[in-house]
Amino acid sequence: MTAKDFPFTEVVEQASKYIEAGHVVHQKFTCHRCGSRQTMDVPNKFFLAGKCEECGAVTDIVRRGCNYVLVAGAAKDVFAGSIQ
Ligand SMILES: [Zn+2]
Repeated sequence: MTAKDFPFTEVVEQASKYIEAGHVVHQKFTCHRCGSRQTMDVPNKFFLAGKCEECGAVTDIVRRGCNYVLVAGAAKDVFAGSIQ
């Protein structure tokens, strides 16, 4: 497994700066049961727990940490208020 997760509060703090700057981020986490990498569908939102689409297990993201993916080129859509 090469995916890395970071402390929840650190990730949220860092991602918030991108969001404030007009970028779009999607939270990512690793399923504690099957280890599959999950990406949240909802942009700019950080969940405390996440359900795995592969095995259905719920992961405690606050305890286990997470990461995020930065969506490039979406900044102007956010400023226009049309988050998809
Ligand atoms: Zn799973």
